[in-house]
Amino acid sequence: GHPVYRDMSTTIFEHMSARARETGAINLGQGFPEGPGPRAMLQAAADALLTRSSQYPPMSGLPELRSAVAGHYARHQQLDLSPQEVIVTSGATEAIAASLLALVRPGDEVLMLAPLYDAYLPLVERAGGVAKVVTLAPPDWRVTRALLEAAITPRTRILLMNNPVNPTGIVLRESELALLADLCVTHDLIALCDEVWEQTVYDGIPHRPLMAFPGMRARTVKIGSAGKIFSVTGWKVGWMCAAPPIATLLARAHQFLTFTTPPNLQWAVAQGLSWPDAWFDRQRAVYQASRDRLAAGLAAAGYVVQPSGATWFLSIDLPASAIALDDMTFCDRIIDEAGVAAIPMSAFCPQSPVTHLVRLCFAKADATLDQAIARLAAFR
Ligand code: GLN
Repeated sequence: GHPVYRDMSTTIFEHMSARARETGAINLGQGFPEGPGPRAMLQAAADALLTRSSQYPPMSGLPELRSAVAGHYARHQQLDLSPQEVIVTSGATEAIAASLLALVRPGDEVLMLAPLYDAYLPLVERAGGVAKVVTLAPPDWRVTRALLEAAITPRTRILLMNNPVNPTGIVLRESELALLADLCVTHDLIALCDEVWEQTVYDGIPHRPLMAFPGMRARTVKIGSAGKIFSVTGWKVGWMCAAPPIATLLARAHQFLTFTTPPNLQWAVAQGLSWPDAWFDRQRAVYQASRDRLAAGLAAAGYVVQPSGATWFLSIDLPASAIALDDMTFCDRIIDEAGVAAIPMSAFCPQSPVTHLVRLCFAKADATLDQAIARLAAFR
């Protein structure tokens, strides 16, 4: 009957992580770092747990964290947000859900670009929106005016996008962002911009927030994630930033979803966001080296890898690697036969299956990556 996303079936991430736990496979599927997270941040959370209140923080977030997010974006991305324009959520996924519940009216069309993060489509549909998915073409996944204009109608109200892009690791170019901004202004769209990978852009390229483009300041919801910035994915501390008329609506949706987020974690994240630039540069350098290690190791083992400019992910191109399996079959086989878990790209392309790519997470220790490379080399 229905395509799986309509049933809100178990996500591919949980499915693959559960299979990795059962089989003892090295889990390069679901995106999470191997390490414990920054020691100073763990200590700040532990201290705050013992010394500060464990009762409800303010619904829109601890004032210290709202200020820290605004300050972080002023320093790192030259944005001029006020703390009142920041609403703390229980992870970026809640921010996406709250934004859609706040802003989608039944029948509104929501424009998205595929490959797309797997939560978007079910959330758009459950919010009453009509999904308009534009599937980009590999290997470059370039955004073009013709593709987008063909999908925009008078009922289009929201652009839901991700930059840098999970799962492809693409960083949208300046010209693509300018095009998206121009279309939002021309067609009076609100942009929900999931920028959780903003601190994982490699090769010296700066992150460019869509909110900074002409005409976008008042029509963009910028979504961020402490889990990604600080490598603590289980904390579920995120935020959404928007001009006051939109922020007011977002807060009303958030209050009925989770109302708030654990106060000690908010406190610790506020400390971390104020750390010197050098900390973020070092973190980025570590992940860039991990990306290069996995890419080089896979290449030496005969796998053709799609270049990744950001995120914690890169992809193997199966046919280019002379592997005559589709992505799902390859993932099923390597988990059982090689002991490595990965994610099939088709999970991110619900309407136009792209079945020749497999996503691997490189946010792991060198020894883990080396072991996974050896196992995948032996599988060939
Ligand atoms: N963002 C993670 C990934 O892309 C998954 C998060 C989750 O499983 N909810 O792998």
